[in-house]
Amino acid sequence: MILKTPEEIERIRESALIVSQTLGMLASEIKPGVTTIALDRMAETFIRDHDGVPGFLGLYNFPNTLCVSPNAQVVHGIPNDIPLQEGDILSVDCGVLKNGFYGDHAYTFPVGAIEAEVAQLLAVTKESLYLGIAEFKANNRVGDVGHAIQQYTEAAGYGVVRELVGHGLGAVMHEAPEMPNYGRRGRGKQFKEGLVVAIEPMINQGTKRIKQLKDGWTILTADGKASAHFEHNVAIVNGQPELLSTFDYIYDALGIQSNEEAPFRKNTSQ
Ligand code: MG
Ligand code: MG
Repeated sequence: MILKTPEEIERIRESALIVSQTLGMLASEIKPGVTTIALDRMAETFIRDHDGVPGFLGLYNFPNTLCVSPNAQVVHGIPNDIPLQEGDILSVDCGVLKNGFYGDHAYTFPVGAIEAEVAQLLAVTKESLYLGIAEFKANNRVGDVGHAIQQYTEAAGYGVVRELVGHGLGAVMHEAPEMPNYGRRGRGKQFKEGLVVAIEPMINQGTKRIKQLKDGWTILTADGKASAHFEHNVAIVNGQPELLSTFDYIYDALGIQSNEEAPFRKNTSQ
């Protein structure tokens, strides 16, 4: 795994910030009637206006700026001209390349009013993300993060996707180590100062099993039940997890109050 200097971490933070702002911009646009291709175009324009390059566009030949995955789609959905409907959920994953480094994170948005059971899936998945982040510190191991996410989400009766995982992040979008959302405490590679990763639980309301559409990209749940995806970019600084991404732009747009990121914010008191 590639450990980053403080200067490199700041560059990743800059790219991650553009992703955070892009998701915040989209938060106001995601509503019944809008198409995901329209969201994709807004995101591409926004990123280029902020001197970034869409990180997913052309990566492994992916055709768009955003991965947009509604309802039973887990990840890697391709934008299209089907309007969103009241009661949908939409997972939006976005990457930005700037100054040679990537940012990459994701949020699952409700479209209008959603079923209480689906809202619970979103809440639990996002909570599990922070439980995983809390374990991302010097001398802990890959399995500690995965274990925290798996234990919390499985206790709620959900399925943890096995085939897709988080990853190291830097000059390459997907670096070592792989960061599964399941695992055993104390197992796997050990974390060190300067490591930067994307932690990204992909949690299914029902079965953990998935299938893929013939488009070669879209991953969806095998049972057709909903799936949620929340992703943050995190560095180990002074031995502790420090967020490089933020959902605050989303919360500002949606009028949500949250202190969830406070324990992992950059320490500015020094
Ligand atoms: Mg992502
Ligand atoms: Mg990722």
